[in-house]
Amino acid sequence: MPVQKTSAILLRRVDYGDADLILTLFSETHGKIGVIAKHAKRSRKRFAGVLELFSNLSIQCRTRRQGGLAVLEEAQIIEPYAALREHILKTAYASYWAELVMVWTEDKQPLAPLYHLLCYTLGELNAGRQIDAQLNLAFQMRFMALAGLCPNLNYCCVCRTALENFKVTAAGFDLPRGGVCCLDCDQPHDTALCLSRGTIKQLQWIAEGDLSRVGRIRFSTAALNEAQHFLEAFVPYHLGREPRSLKFLRQIRPCATAA
Ligand SMILES: [Zn+2]
Repeated sequence: MPVQKTSAILLRRVDYGDADLILTLFSETHGKIGVIAKHAKRSRKRFAGVLELFSNLSIQCRTRRQGGLAVLEEAQIIEPYAALREHILKTAYASYWAELVMVWTEDKQPLAPLYHLLCYTLGELNAGRQIDAQLNLAFQMRFMALAGLCPNLNYCCVCRTALENFKVTAAGFDLPRGGVCCLDCDQPHDTALCLSRGTIKQLQWIAEGDLSRVGRIRFSTAALNEAQHFLEAFVPYHLGREPRSLKFLRQIRPCATAA
């Protein structure tokens, strides 16, 4: 029976019976994997304090000849990311990113760039080195690019006029077409969104710039709100569903931000 060793982020844990846990992890070398952690709830020795949500683990698991979930044999903490479970707003952001990865990725399809993006954004969110809401923008833009669903922010998706040549500094955004449109082509409808050129430029930078320098960019409050409103419409539209964790994030964000 083959043994797999890899590093992985714990995305979800569900009780299974009185003693066991079923875990979904996003691993560096095997993509999304489901494993069962036998006796993890009962035994104080096995996995004690290790199998916490969003933590980065070094795991060893064994696949079973008869199929079904692999069995977790060993797990050690690489990064506990404890702050992500202690602050409700950080928990909400981490849950949203974890759900996007859960929903979009296929089982056992390695996607190392997404693993590294998730590690980076969870690490920064945990450390509090960057503004949480900006990290959320960076995660969503880069996640959508890796998913092959990057918004077109370069030219009007109807008449193909370059953004620089738009007559005014604001652009509409056409959700079905997945791109900006100049105000000549913009057809106001239910999903109408508006972005200023400055916000678009900043979104392009956090999507394409060096990830380690994303924290240097500073959105104004207005640009942050505009970009947030845009991405939280764009991402669910193109994934075909509204993540439950995004609803939760929207509910708690006003109270948590005011506190
Ligand atoms: Zn146009």
